Amino acid sequence: MADGETSLLRIENLTISFGHGADRLRAVRSLNLEVGNREIHALVGESGAGKSVTARAIPGLLPETALLESGSIRYRDTELTALDRDGLRAIRGARIGMVFQDPGRHLNPSLRVGRQVSEALEEHLGLSRGAARARALRLVKLVELADARRVLRSYPHELSGGMKQRALIAMAISCAPGLLIADEPTTALDATVQGQILRLLKRLRSQLDMGILFVSHDFGVVQAVADHVSVIYAGGIVESAPADRLFDRPLHPYTDLLISAIPEADKRGGRLRSVPGRAPDPRAVPPGCPFHPRCPLAREVCRHVPPPLVEHAPGHLSACHFAAELPGGRDA
Ligand code: SF4
Repeated sequence: MADGETSLLRIENLTISFGHGADRLRAVRSLNLEVGNREIHALVGESGAGKSVTARAIPGLLPETALLESGSIRYRDTELTALDRDGLRAIRGARIGMVFQDPGRHLNPSLRVGRQVSEALEEHLGLSRGAARARALRLVKLVELADARRVLRSYPHELSGGMKQRALIAMAISCAPGLLIADEPTTALDATVQGQILRLLKRLRSQLDMGILFVSHDFGVVQAVADHVSVIYAGGIVESAPADRLFDRPLHPYTDLLISAIPEADKRGGRLRSVPGRAPDPRAVPPGCPFHPRCPLAREVCRHVPPPLVEHAPGHLSACHFAAELPGGRDA
């Protein structure tokens, strides 16, 4: 978050587990994250790193098998972990919007798109049917869906993947939320549509004055959209910094490898699986620094002592014992 910006979302010391006893799996470990007003904050990590669990914990969408062991999630002045089911339902949609990877799964196949957009407006804003319909039309135009009236009359299966995602974004922003959670919103789309959706999200952020938590496994996409980046590994943040600074001067070997993995000719498609080795099984996270089995800089201390997340420059945090030896550390 940039200096002087107010916090929109503040997550502190969040730990979430699944299962019991010997089978307990900690998906998120003492995680801290802050999203500023009008900021696009990317949470980036490999599959299973805990990014989607974190994203779903915010609006209370974790499965019943999840246990919130500790931590605080504050949206503006509201402590979300203290809300009951009804309180969370009131927050969802009205103050926190959500967009997911597979828009087809999150649209009702048996309802016309227009009805689905209008329903949220009637429920959260108490609009009449006519007023909701008029506002739905404006929203569909706002997300740049051509032939808006036809789209509103359509069923989801009559729309392309990109159109469905735009319709889902229209629903997510229908009540002008302060925060939009976008969980892998472009993963299922081809590169051209992906670029269009990223540009749309950036424009909506400014136009609607909202912050976006952008969850992705794709560092190339993150580079195209984020103001601030937090890198998650084995359930914890290992580096967090303003995007320009992180890409120029990474302070964690994992981030450094991820940046190297983005193809030079085409920055898109720099998938995190390019990093050598495998992400740890959440049931058996290595002691010390969880990245040590894959880290080219690992030394003996890394096998035993977990590195704390330390601020090396304003807004630039890294959890690495040897951050100062990385290119970004020499002038941090
Ligand atoms: Fe690598 Fe050690 Fe830094 Fe972990 S603490 S990232 S193992 S150098």
